[in-house]
Amino acid sequence: MNSTFPYAERYGVNRTLPDEGRARDDVLRELREIASEEDSFWETGKISGTMYCGDHDHYAFLNDVFGLFAHVNVLQRDMCPSATRFEGEIIAMTLDLLHAEAVADGTPAGLVTSGGTGSILHALLAYRDRARQERGIERPNVVKPETAHPAFEKACLLFGIESRTVPVDPVSTVVVPEVVADHVDADTVAIIGSACNYGYGTIDPIPELSELAVERGVGLHVDGCLGGWILPFGQELGYDVPVFDFRLPGVTSISADTHKYGYAFKGTSVVAFRDKAWRQAQYFMIPDWSGGKYLSPGIDGSRSGGLLASTWASLVTLGREGYLRHAEAIFRTAAAMQDAVRAHPELRIMGSPTFCFSFTSDAFSIYHVADSMRTRGWRFNGQQYPDAIHMAVTRPQTQEGVVEAFATDLDEAVRYAHEHRDDAPISGAIYGGVPGGMTPEADQFIRSIMVDLLDTQQSVPD
Ligand SMILES: *Cc1c(COP(=O)(O)O)cnc(C)c1O
Repeated sequence: MNSTFPYAERYGVNRTLPDEGRARDDVLRELREIASEEDSFWETGKISGTMYCGDHDHYAFLNDVFGLFAHVNVLQRDMCPSATRFEGEIIAMTLDLLHAEAVADGTPAGLVTSGGTGSILHALLAYRDRARQERGIERPNVVKPETAHPAFEKACLLFGIESRTVPVDPVSTVVVPEVVADHVDADTVAIIGSACNYGYGTIDPIPELSELAVERGVGLHVDGCLGGWILPFGQELGYDVPVFDFRLPGVTSISADTHKYGYAFKGTSVVAFRDKAWRQAQYFMIPDWSGGKYLSPGIDGSRSGGLLASTWASLVTLGREGYLRHAEAIFRTAAAMQDAVRAHPELRIMGSPTFCFSFTSDAFSIYHVADSMRTRGWRFNGQQYPDAIHMAVTRPQTQEGVVEAFATDLDEAVRYAHEHRDDAPISGAIYGGVPGGMTPEADQFIRSIMVDLLDTQQSVPD
């Protein structure tokens, strides 16, 4: 599994289009082998995040639905009014979850995008373009916590928005509203908060950011890509989840990934706006193109009907009861895993997390813990500044025995970390140092490794 090209020898490599097509049976057999081997990697429940659902029956059902509309292009609505049903209802159900009924000063609306990054891109595009149209802002900026997802930086880069990144409180790991306020000026189109952030699973003080947004007349995007489809249920279950949605008057948009805790296939997310004026600001149309009148609701052109249909089917077959039930198991598992971490005084949980948590150590390199856990099949996401490892609890972790294995393996890992305190950890190789403290040479070096990695991932073996 570690090799980049584990299948080259086993199945050969296509360097050109095969002259003759292969038999479908043969291809299916080969792909079934690969898929079942790769699934076994995460089915253990020892992998952080990524497989939010993990239920093969649910996947099989979604695949049936996907197949019915996979070939449909939802751009051509005269041929597929079903896409309007799916898309409109996905948005309506998301708006309902995020308490859009509380909005009295606008008409809430949403957009189905290709994922969390897509939702963040469209939100920032909407802020930029509406601010240009209504406030004449030509040099827009956004203010975001350092913990905000890299997609915000990507959006700023693509759309020519100045990104103003502010540090978070090192203990709570959340942004300090006064610090955000100091960076807001007449050209600020929006401020950003996460509910919750990916790194630490902590929730920025959205009520205070909302007040600030109202006071200064700027937008507030709440990044609920990770939390949007689970935190509302955690709140309902009585967990400590502050209000972060449209019930707050300053919240003008929220991203919520259906392809994470919505348990849909990868490829969909919703960006919800407080008022449809934001959605309209980023509509794209060319009424006088020679190829015909062209319009699209966002950046994408053709999209598969299969994604809309299967996302819709995930929401309606699980229903509130299903989401609540899964959230209950996930929150309970996350709390038990955090208890296992807290049982070790050498380990320290970052801030007050929820279903996703991160921990570090002041006694030894936390990467020693990751190294030891890795030999027992655990896969965490490595973090830096400070070094930490994170676990986003998903449904595979809620299986019986996983929490117990976590606690036992963690005991062993802490012992290992003490023993190897003076050695360099294996998995921490590219981390370390202080933020912004990387030399230009080190930065260049790491970038060149990253370029090579991306090049390799899109190549055939030599
Ligand atoms: C996953 C995630 C994103 C980006 O989503 P993609 O679906 O990977 O594009 C943004 N914000 C947070 C908090 C996330 O967890």
